[in-house]
Amino acid sequence: MESFVGQLALDALDLVFPRFCLRCGVEGTAWCEGCAASFAPFPPVARCPFCETTGSWRTCADCRDETYLDGLTAIAPYGNAIVREALTTWKYHGDPEMGRVVDLWIRQVVGSRDAFVFPSGATVTHLPLHASRRRHRGFDQAEEVARSLASTLDVASRALLVRTHATSSQAKRASAERMVGDLDDLFRATGEVPRKVILCDDVCTSGATMDAAAKAFKEAGAEIVWGFSVARGSHP
Ligand SMILES: [Zn+2]
Ligand SMILES: [Zn+2]
Repeated sequence: MESFVGQLALDALDLVFPRFCLRCGVEGTAWCEGCAASFAPFPPVARCPFCETTGSWRTCADCRDETYLDGLTAIAPYGNAIVREALTTWKYHGDPEMGRVVDLWIRQVVGSRDAFVFPSGATVTHLPLHASRRRHRGFDQAEEVARSLASTLDVASRALLVRTHATSSQAKRASAERMVGDLDDLFRATGEVPRKVILCDDVCTSGATMDAAAKAFKEAGAEIVWGFSVARGSHP
């Protein structure tokens, strides 16, 4: 009886989320085997997390004086429609299949490229949602990203931050456009802060939110705070 009910729940899920490959449209899965084997949507252009300067994942010399984040690695441009659709469907509709696709991308891209620079021996953590939003949504995609990255790099993943203010979705959108320094005190570091931290999020736009968290960590004693996001850049 129990498995029958379980099957009904699965069928209902299929109705809500019909499965078509994000790239080629074939029915049955959100990311088909052919696309997984052949598609590399991620030309990772190394650039400063805060400005357009290219050539390194490190924060550039001009931005370094005014910021806390030491650098940021991303695997895809947010302008990529496939990446954007996967991330937004996952985030706003809670579709776990999209989480699995993003997990696969992280493992494939980070696991296969030497170009991905991370501080060695760092603890992986994430930019948390506010507790009330986390409850409402039932999961935190940044936490899932951190879990994927930690497992790919074979290091520990820990929750080390608290978001102190709950912001509405609209305010959050606006905040993504805010300048570095406008979001002070948005996060508080908790527990014992490691010397090196990799901060994960799904999307990084202006870098202001990441930098607010980097500031909280550095004020709590961290020496190196590095960012990781699945996508970076603004909405096209
Ligand atoms: Zn496909
Ligand atoms: Zn810069």
